[in-house]
Amino acid sequence: MPARTGKEFLKGLRGAREVWVDGERVSDVVDHPKLSGAAQALAEVFDLHHKQADVCLMPDPETGEPIPVSHMIPRSREDLAKRGKALRQVAEYSMGLMGRTPDYMNVTFAGFAGRPDEWGMNGNEAGAERLVAYQKVLRRGDISLTHTIVQPTVDKATGDAPSPGNAHALRKVADTGHGIVVRGARVLATLAPFADELAVYPASPLPEGADDYALAFCVPMGAPGLKFLCRDSVSAPAGRFDHPLSSRFDEQDAFVIFDDVEIPRDRVFIDGNRAVYNKVPTTSWSPNIQQQTMIRASTKLDFAWGLALRMAAAINAADPETMRMIGEIWAYAEFTRAAVATAEAEAREWPSGLWTSAGAPLHALRAMLPLWFPRVNEILRLIGSHNVFATPTAQQMADKDLRPLIDRYLPGAKGMAAEERIRIFRLVWDFAGSALASRNEQYERFYLASSPRNLARHLAFTDRSRADRLVDRFLKEPY
Ligand SMILES: Cc1cc2nc3c(=O)[nH]c(=O)nc-3n(C[C@H](O)[C@H](O)[C@H](O)COP(=O)(O)OP(=O)(O)OC[C@H]3O[C@@H](n4cnc5c(N)ncnc54)[C@H](O)[C@@H]3O)c2cc1C
Repeated sequence: MPARTGKEFLKGLRGAREVWVDGERVSDVVDHPKLSGAAQALAEVFDLHHKQADVCLMPDPETGEPIPVSHMIPRSREDLAKRGKALRQVAEYSMGLMGRTPDYMNVTFAGFAGRPDEWGMNGNEAGAERLVAYQKVLRRGDISLTHTIVQPTVDKATGDAPSPGNAHALRKVADTGHGIVVRGARVLATLAPFADELAVYPASPLPEGADDYALAFCVPMGAPGLKFLCRDSVSAPAGRFDHPLSSRFDEQDAFVIFDDVEIPRDRVFIDGNRAVYNKVPTTSWSPNIQQQTMIRASTKLDFAWGLALRMAAAINAADPETMRMIGEIWAYAEFTRAAVATAEAEAREWPSGLWTSAGAPLHALRAMLPLWFPRVNEILRLIGSHNVFATPTAQQMADKDLRPLIDRYLPGAKGMAAEERIRIFRLVWDFAGSALASRNEQYERFYLASSPRNLARHLAFTDRSRADRLVDRFLKEPY
């Protein structure tokens, strides 16, 4: 099947699945009032691939059918640049507010399928073959994937990885004629209500004896025993004027329970092979996926900078402190743009011929963005002040008695019409202050581990030789 349209994507979501939202088991994720806005938005992403086909689609290497470029296994610097352009298009659709549009997992699995050498190590050749075969299914079916790679937090003192016998974390409990049975829980599956399948793959390394927890697989969302407990919805009612962002970009996050779920053998990629499990997250995974995450971040920061400029213009706030704060957002945006470009320019080839961006610039960004994004929101709110609440609703704007008064008393500076001013401040609040904004801030802090963890692990992603050489000059100087 070629790249799906939005209509085909929505049809696929209507199958059976156990998704809970705000105390209710949802029977239809497409029409549910708390989910329909995001479902329609994601359908528009699928349609965008066709509208921008020259950038977003490419022929499948074997069938020739058009598939999204995000499924490409990059084999050269040029491939990476082509993928970057397609990722940018999708990021611009939600201004980077949806972190887990399906391109995130498409890129992840393309990166995995490009490393059969690694997935097939330590006797896991059959698992690697199944993974490569699954990636073909994924790209040809244009399947929407969610994923969950983090063990549930019960007692932080016991560390990130489950020790043998842990009864909370996801593990294998049986083999069957068709595959394996898994039991336990994982956090968090962003995009869960809008996915066709769920992926589980390695993250934190496992200790000796924890082989049952060494798993990688994909499973359809409707598999019996699979339960998704969504967080409280931050989706606002439909209405592009009142809630331009939160009416459509709540991608949801779900706690996942595997209540004895059978995983078909052809979708099991690691089954107890701890050596492979511990190796996969340490090499090409991070620089591969961070091309997507940082293009998204760059888009979001440019949008935030644009918002700040418009807001300042609306009230003619040109004082030095306001300009300094807007400049601060611009600097974050510019550092991010430059790091993405540097990572592409310093791209590298891995043993099996996979190309990824360079890891160090993107890892440095990943460590700092959890600090920058909350600050961006703070700046927008500081400049916005009370103005973010002097924002009549669409209904108030439509009232024939109120409208002339709104037009008279709520214009912007230098002749800006009231409607434009109100739209700007509504957009700012939805971006930086609404329930969606609060969720998004939490996302940016944690979606690929916290800032302290990323900073602490920086040596795994970078080359310290120049830093050592510079210091050595003094340490090795004669007396
Ligand atoms: C909105 C959202 C969406 C998510 N979506 C997904 C998803 O789709 N799939 C998925 O698998 N996971 C997802 N996650 C989970 C995410 O991967 C985890 O939240 C992330 O790994 C952080 O988990 P943690 O509690 O172990 O964080 P930690 O890194 O332990 O951070 C928790 C706190 O501890 C502090 N801390 C940590 N280490 C140190 C240290 N060494 N020194 C000092 N302080 C420290 C941090 O500053 C932080 O305040 C999502 C999370 C969120 C919030």
